[in-house]
Amino acid sequence: MAKHIFVTGGVTSSLGKGIIAASLAKLLQARGLSVTIQKLDPYINVDPGTLNPYEHGECYVTEDGAETDLDLGHYERFLNTPTSQANNVTTGRIYQTVIEKERAGAFLGKTVQVIPHITDEIKNRITLQEKNNHWDIVITEIGGTVGDIESLPYLEALRQLRREIGKENCLVVHLTLIPYLKAAKELKTKPTQHSVKELLQAGIQPDILVCRTEYHLPKELKEKLALFCNVDENSVIEALDAETIYDVPLLMLKEKLDKTVLKKLGIKNNTEPDLTSWKEFLGKLKNPTHEVNIGLVGKYNELQDAYKSIYEAFIHAGAVNECKVNVVPIHSEKLESGEVPSKLKNLDGILVAPGFGERGIAGKLEAIRFVRENKIPFFGICLGMQCAVVEFSKNVLNIKDANSTEVEPNTPNPVIDLMDDQKTVINKGGTMRLGAYACKLAKNSISYKSYGKADISERHRHRYEFNNVYLDRMESAGLVATGKNPESGLVEVVELKDHPYFVGVQYHPELKSTVENPHPLFVSFIKAALQNK
Ligand code: GLN
Repeated sequence: MAKHIFVTGGVTSSLGKGIIAASLAKLLQARGLSVTIQKLDPYINVDPGTLNPYEHGECYVTEDGAETDLDLGHYERFLNTPTSQANNVTTGRIYQTVIEKERAGAFLGKTVQVIPHITDEIKNRITLQEKNNHWDIVITEIGGTVGDIESLPYLEALRQLRREIGKENCLVVHLTLIPYLKAAKELKTKPTQHSVKELLQAGIQPDILVCRTEYHLPKELKEKLALFCNVDENSVIEALDAETIYDVPLLMLKEKLDKTVLKKLGIKNNTEPDLTSWKEFLGKLKNPTHEVNIGLVGKYNELQDAYKSIYEAFIHAGAVNECKVNVVPIHSEKLESGEVPSKLKNLDGILVAPGFGERGIAGKLEAIRFVRENKIPFFGICLGMQCAVVEFSKNVLNIKDANSTEVEPNTPNPVIDLMDDQKTVINKGGTMRLGAYACKLAKNSISYKSYGKADISERHRHRYEFNNVYLDRMESAGLVATGKNPESGLVEVVELKDHPYFVGVQYHPELKSTVENPHPLFVSFIKAALQNK
């Protein structure tokens, strides 16, 4: 049986439960234990696929095509192991399952209630991981903040599970905030005391407090927290604001979070965590010898979380190249035609981001035209690749009304179009082309050279596709399909001839970039940007 660790959050949201969970998992993994992390999200959407990025940040896609919370991206980037549909569940999905069972007659004669039916289903989901695979440790992050109405059934399920499997097999780590009051020049513990009380009301005594703080926690303050919150003194862990999220595992190591956890769970493990490659990465990240400025052209730029995996992939690729990557957000809607040269001319490379709908497309097309003509390195992802195809059709093939049918449903020249199997789809949730698909790369292409092999697999999340009716015309004019799906023939990668670096991909390479495996295309793009400097 796996041992369970739960991570709850108190006082405010955005304390970084995902990063703490991933950092703890990293330390345990580096000690040779097998660890997985899952996230329980208390909202009613069945998954975040139908959420606007402004609501909840990027939607992260797993190998098996689940549209999930962006914290799963952190789990993968830290642990370098893939997650799946089973690693993320929402209240919507829990209720959906219970209601389907009710309709099928599974509870005939009974009133279906939050306790026990919803809580049983939550427990089912929590223990699903160990039914599918062997894990020494399963870490479960409970989304939201303790005290939220929506979180209650999850806390109740946790209380029950803990009773059933025993405290020695189940640990609760509570992440809280210790605010600093400038006027009083003091760190304050009261909000933490209150949030622990809130947990106690749900029948849960936390075992470990991880305290987010801007300043070092003095010993007296740790003692006070331990006393008032009824935890061991060495179980009050300081989590100082970090320069980068990738420092957090080392900060937690210094605070002995891993040792405390192992001791409380009764796991004997005397190996020191092997963090050699992690530290090597940090060394390169913090001592860059060069610097590049990359424009990120997108329409959700107000919120960094909307492009989380892209930002992280740049960090990984920058470190390999010993290069600091300054990502300059450029709002596509604000790229009016006249402004493009002044906004883009000092950049060493441009990435045009994924996205949906018509808003901001004109700015993206202008930006692509500029980098194509001026031979500035270009990397287009999903919608970014589709825009490159539209721009090329309009301005090089001279098909002025060429477009994607997502933008102009009745265009006479749909160079990007829906596949037939998408045309009949009505439901919006979970119906895109999702998850991992194979792709074969053409020898001598930039992408082939970047990956160092022809057969790759990448994750998708889109409805529209390159329209192969136009392929010959594009290729003879210089935009070549260098990556195709071997079964369907769908175009997955396009590259421009006679350009130092012009690569558009229909898939989402950013989702597979990890600290230990930086994505080859991000790495080659940064290299090209460095050469362009
Ligand atoms: N909106 C485009 C499509 O659905 C691109 C999606 C994306 O960029 N993820 O095909």
